[in-house]
Amino acid sequence: MNFLREVQDNIQKIGKEVSATEEFIEDLKKPDRFLEFKIKVAGETLVGYRSQHNNLMGPYKGGLRFHEKVTPEEVKALSVLMTLKCALVEVPFGGGKGGVRFNPDNFSQDQVESVARQYVQQAFPFIGPEVDIPAPDINTDANLMSIMVDEYSRLADRRCPASFTGKKIKDGGVAGRKQATGYGGFAVLRRLVEILGRNPAETVVALQGFGNVGYHFSYFAEKEGFKIIAASESDGGVLVKEGIDSAKTKKCRDETGTIVDCHCTNGSCGHQEGSNIKNEDLLSLDVDVLVPAAVEDVITKKNADKIKADYVLSLANGPVTSEAEDILTGKGVRVIPDILANAGGVVASYFEWLKGVQGKEVSKTEVLSGVEEFLCPTFAKLWNMTKGGESMRKNAYKLAIKNLMKRYDE
Ligand code: NAD
Repeated sequence: MNFLREVQDNIQKIGKEVSATEEFIEDLKKPDRFLEFKIKVAGETLVGYRSQHNNLMGPYKGGLRFHEKVTPEEVKALSVLMTLKCALVEVPFGGGKGGVRFNPDNFSQDQVESVARQYVQQAFPFIGPEVDIPAPDINTDANLMSIMVDEYSRLADRRCPASFTGKKIKDGGVAGRKQATGYGGFAVLRRLVEILGRNPAETVVALQGFGNVGYHFSYFAEKEGFKIIAASESDGGVLVKEGIDSAKTKKCRDETGTIVDCHCTNGSCGHQEGSNIKNEDLLSLDVDVLVPAAVEDVITKKNADKIKADYVLSLANGPVTSEAEDILTGKGVRVIPDILANAGGVVASYFEWLKGVQGKEVSKTEVLSGVEEFLCPTFAKLWNMTKGGESMRKNAYKLAIKNLMKRYDE
C-alpha cells in the first residue's frame, strides 16, 4: 500500500474510533492546498511541490526535501504527519511539507541554490511567516534556509527571518535547532529507559541514517552512555561491537564521503575496530533499540518478522509501515511513533519562529530543554495509555486527532 493511502486509512479508522465526524475525517485526509510548479535548472525542468495540509492549530509548518524520489503522494502524506505531530505535542503550528524531485548530488552548488531560489519565487504568494513556514529536511540544510529567507525577503521587500526556520544562526536561526530532532529522539529514549528502570550502558542500539537527525541522536545517546553498535547511510554502514564514537565516525564520514569503513571507537578508527554491514542486516541485528533515522518504508511486512529489537524508535518520518507495525506489535515489539519521536525539530522551529516574529532571543539550553518539555510528558502519557499488544502510533494519532477536534469545535 502506498504511504499516503496508508496515512489516510489510519485517519479513517482512528478518526472513527474517537468519534470524529465523517466531514472532519475527510477534511483530514486531504491537504487544504497542494501546489505543483516547474523549476528550471541546467537545461532540465524539475518539479517542486508544497502541500498545505491543515492550519487548525496554527500556520502550516513542515520541511522541504530535495530528493529524486519525491512524489506528490509522499509530500501530501508527510504534510498530514506534520499536522498530527504538531497537534500531538501541542506546538501551535499546522501541517505542511514540500519537496523538489531531483538528486542535488548531480548538480553544482550554484545550481542547487538556483533551485532553492526558484522554489521561493514559485511558492511566494502562498507562504510566509504567518501562513506557511518551511524548514530543512532531507538534503536541505541551514545554508539553503538562509538563502531562501534571503529570496523571500527580496520578494517581500523587507527582511522576513520568520519565513523559514532552520536557518544559520547569523541569519536569525537559533542554537540547538540543528540538534533538536536528534536530541528529542534521545530524550524520549532516555525517558524510556528510566521508565523501564534500565541502565543506558546496558542498552544496545542500532541506527539507520547518519544525517542530521541520526548523527545528533547518536551524539547525545552515546554521551549518555548508550551503546550504538551499528550506524548506516544509503550506501551501507558499520558494525562496531564496542560502540561507535559518533564524532569520530562523523569526521571520518565527512572526510571520505561515506560511513562505510569508518569503524571508529573511543580509541581509534581502523579495520580492527569493526566491520561493514548492509542496511538490511543492520535492521535485523539483535539489539535492544532499533532507530530508523533515514527514510520512510524501511520496515515493511517483508522484513518485520526479522526485527529482533525490543523497541523501535521511529526518528525518520514513516519508517515503519502499518502492516509491519501490526507484525511487530504482535511479537511484543514496541514502536515509538515518528510523530512523537522526531517532533523535537518542530519544537525548536517554534522557538526560532518566535524569535523571528517577536525578536525573542533563546539559548541552546532553553531550546533543548524546551524540546524535552514538549516531548517527554506526551511520551509518558502515550506509554501509560498503551497496553501490551496495542499500537502506540494508533494512540498517538488518537491524541492528535482529539486535539484537532477540540480546535475544530471552537
Ligand atoms: P539527512 O539528509 O541529513 O540524512 C539522511 C540520512 O539517511 C543520510 O545519512 C542518508 O545517507 C541516509 N539514507 C538515505 N536513504 C537511505 C536508505 N535507503 N538506507 C539507509 N540510509 C539512507 O536527513 P535528516 O534531516 O537527517 O532526515 C532524516 C529523516 O528524519 C527523514 O525521514 C526526515 O523526514 C526526518 N525528520 C527530519 C527532521 C529534521 O529536523 N531534519 C525533523 C523531523 C523528521
